[in-house]
Amino acid sequence: MSSGMKSRFWHSLTFRLTLWYTGIFTLSACVAFLLFYLFITTVIRERLDRDLLNQAGQFSVVLRDQGIRAVEEFALLEAQAAGVKQVFYRLLYPTGQAFSSSNLASWREIEIRQAAIARLLEAGEPVFETVSPGSRAEKVRLLYARIGPAVILQTGQSMEADSRLIAAFRGVFAVTMVLLIALAAGVGWFMARRAVSGVEAIARTARGISGGNLARRVPATGSGDEIDQLAATFNAMLDRIQSLVKEIREMSDNIAHDLKSPLTRIRGAAEVTLTTGKSLGEYETMAAGAIEECDRLLGLIDTMLMISRTEAGVLTPALGRVDLAALLREAVDLFAAAAEDRGLTLDTHLPESLAIDGDPRMLQRLLANLLDNAVKYTPAGGSVTVGLEDRGKQVGITVQDTGIGIAAADLPRIFERFYRCDQSRSVAGTGLGLSLARAIARAHGGEVTAESRPGAGSRFTVTLPRGSANGLH
Ligand code: ADP
Repeated sequence: MSSGMKSRFWHSLTFRLTLWYTGIFTLSACVAFLLFYLFITTVIRERLDRDLLNQAGQFSVVLRDQGIRAVEEFALLEAQAAGVKQVFYRLLYPTGQAFSSSNLASWREIEIRQAAIARLLEAGEPVFETVSPGSRAEKVRLLYARIGPAVILQTGQSMEADSRLIAAFRGVFAVTMVLLIALAAGVGWFMARRAVSGVEAIARTARGISGGNLARRVPATGSGDEIDQLAATFNAMLDRIQSLVKEIREMSDNIAHDLKSPLTRIRGAAEVTLTTGKSLGEYETMAAGAIEECDRLLGLIDTMLMISRTEAGVLTPALGRVDLAALLREAVDLFAAAAEDRGLTLDTHLPESLAIDGDPRMLQRLLANLLDNAVKYTPAGGSVTVGLEDRGKQVGITVQDTGIGIAAADLPRIFERFYRCDQSRSVAGTGLGLSLARAIARAHGGEVTAESRPGAGSRFTVTLPRGSANGLH
């Protein structure tokens, strides 16, 4: 592993997740063990205390029934029975002075603590203590109890069994902990790898894409988990980027093509005039032609800019109260002559007036584009009908024709910039009119939709909010 890879490993999410998992697991195991340990030691001590108290009970019965001598003998016998190294008994006066005891050879270090006796006499309750004599490996549990009016019993029991159990427990704890930590690290590593592998696949795909391959996708696992959802979102984003890149490429091709044709025409005309033209009139005709072509070009560029700015929200509608009915009547009047020339009837179904909040110049352009198309793409003898209706919070404008119609395959694409259907190529146009119409409608918080049947005609519907819409930029 190179040093770069090593440092990446230490900083990797997999490593950190494993570390966290192992740490939390170890901590939980320690807490569980500790609780268990405390529980066991408490149970053992309580049992020992109960034993000691029972013993003291027996001593007081012997004292009451048989007298002090019998108690002294009882102490010797009991110690021998249990083992003189395991247990001892001392009989004391209330002053703390010992007057009899079992074999104390192994218990020399155990003192009589005056403070314990004072506490016993004061509270009247038996007093327990745990001491660690230097000569013994294990601890000793002591009891001071009053077995008669003038006799105190000090008894002690070795906690050897207790210590052995605890030592065994510690051994088991150490071994189990090592195994558990190893297991936790293994499981943690496995789980972290599983979780992170999906993210790595996404990172790999992203790297492939920055290397120029936009067609790559993250394989979906179909598990429906967060990583799978991330992969699906990432893939959807890539689909969108790919189609946008394709659109931009097509658009720049179209722009290049649309700019090239008029420029070639201007250049051709200039060249011909230069080589063959003799009279001033010929130069004048060429100049007029060039101006006309340039105007068309400028118009095209203006429209492109207007669409981009409107879509980007840079160009916002200058809102004012607009009477749409009046605006539509003006627009229809403008196209009346062209419709008549083409042998079309132009009908309107308009209310007296219908006002909305909008930008009159923008809306004029929108309507002009729709009317221009309806007239352009309807053969002689057909009709164009313009309608306007109040739909409560919205208004609906319809421009319906009986023209050539649009094929179902083209219908979703006609609002794209520069898109022109095959059957309309013979008619002059830029393919930008509907893009601008949609951009304007959307900038007003509205929408333009199209329905069409090839050969039967088309209907374009513009819906606009009546008041200043929240969709406005
Ligand atoms: P153009 O300058 O070509 O008219 P538009 O963006 O206005 O550009 O329209 C895009 C395409 O949609 C047109 O080229 C035409 O093929 C189709 N189209 C638009 N309006 C109509 C219509 N009323 N009838 C038939 N086809 C239409």
